[in-house]
Amino acid sequence: MQLPKYKKKKRIKLKICQYCGKEFWGHPIAKYCELHRDVKQREKTKKSPEPGDSNNKTYSHDLIEVVEESWICELDGCGKTYVVKVFPKQYVYPRFCEEHRNEFRRRNYIRQKLMEDIRKTRAAAAKAAAPKVAAPAKVAAKPAAKAAAGAAKVVVPKDAVKDVKPKPAKKISGTKA
Ligand SMILES: [Zn+2]
Ligand SMILES: [Zn+2]
Repeated sequence: MQLPKYKKKKRIKLKICQYCGKEFWGHPIAKYCELHRDVKQREKTKKSPEPGDSNNKTYSHDLIEVVEESWICELDGCGKTYVVKVFPKQYVYPRFCEEHRNEFRRRNYIRQKLMEDIRKTRAAAAKAAAPKVAAPAKVAAKPAAKAAAGAAKVVVPKDAVKDVKPKPAKKISGTKA
């Protein structure tokens, strides 16, 4: 009765976890490594991917030949498609398009998107807050004030102002005298 036991032991094979891609020793029907045999563990990792491995994701498949697939970048707001070569028995693949496979670029993208959103909401808020009549008046007043300030420095318009002012002054003095 020892022979069948020995045979049973021999059936243990080197397998690859369908969830994390790690090699483990298990029965031919075993799909997951010791850790991921527990469904709760698989769910857990799904929700919070390993911090050092956020560039990649686990893709479960039973392909027996290399297949090119089009995936969509998971970076919020990107939506670009990228082609992934899916290899048999390989389950870890890039999560982002070529452009966003680097953490710095992803952060940069998110920052720029945030800034854009802030700018948009500010512009919308300014439009909503400003009275319809006052808005064009403000725009007109600002350049005028700037022009006057600039004119004072250039002096030329000062003469023009002087030319205008003395005329009524003469008139006034004329009427007085
Ligand atoms: Zn595993
Ligand atoms: Zn992307």
